[in-house]
Amino acid sequence: MPTVTCAEVQDLIGPMLDGSVAAQTKSIFFDHIGSCGRCGRAYDLEYLAKILVQSNAPRVETPAGVRASILRALTAERLQAGVGVRARGWFTRVPAPAYAAVLGAILLAYLVFPLPPSSEDLLRHVGERDIMTQATSNLSLFQNGKLIPSMTSCSPESVYGYLLSQRVPFKVNVRPIEQCDAYSAIVNEYNGVKLAHVVYKLNKDLLYVYQVNKDETVGDDAHLSMPGAARLSLKNTGWYIDEQHPDFNVVLWEENGTICAAASTLSKDRMMAVLAVR
Ligand SMILES: [Zn+2]
Repeated sequence: MPTVTCAEVQDLIGPMLDGSVAAQTKSIFFDHIGSCGRCGRAYDLEYLAKILVQSNAPRVETPAGVRASILRALTAERLQAGVGVRARGWFTRVPAPAYAAVLGAILLAYLVFPLPPSSEDLLRHVGERDIMTQATSNLSLFQNGKLIPSMTSCSPESVYGYLLSQRVPFKVNVRPIEQCDAYSAIVNEYNGVKLAHVVYKLNKDLLYVYQVNKDETVGDDAHLSMPGAARLSLKNTGWYIDEQHPDFNVVLWEENGTICAAASTLSKDRMMAVLAVR
């Protein structure tokens, strides 16, 4: 198998997404991003940018140019606002339909705060305290009927109301999702930390979202942990996409002081399309 460098792989991302790459090059490309977190993330961001621009701005004919202008606008905004402004702040200021701008914010943050040189340590999940490990194993338990929801409803409002009634000590997140057949909720504790779990059933697919107060994930003696790469990405963009789970797609984000870890059988593009709606 010929070897390729990260730079060569990253140059290939655009042509890959345009479908203009030969089969052999494709397999070399995917072999590389399967084992290189940095290139994997670069690919994901380009991929998401493409999906979001396509699905939310159908009139746009030149997505690359549009993205460049979003980046320029955000750079200007960022310079005006000062360097201390975090990507998450943009989410609250951009108009709701402007997912492409959200994407721009993520892309820009990756440019402004590149991850340190690829390091296995940064990607490592540490034992059972790890939020994404818990999210994926809970989804498996749920699939096998071993994790029983406390309540199930066809209304997102009643699930939200249930979670409020359980005095969950952080802002819970329940998204109304089109074509969602049922919403389920569970509240429990892990090492004395209260957790909320919301499961969306979309036809044959499940979207599970683990939720915890961000404070429980901060500091050396925190009850819950996440890989260093996730911490960095959340800090800089508000989002993290984990590449290390064979069975599920896993996305982590921060919203109103709550860390949400979603694990799903949905494809990555469908999952992001659902999660990008606020
Ligand atoms: Zn690479």
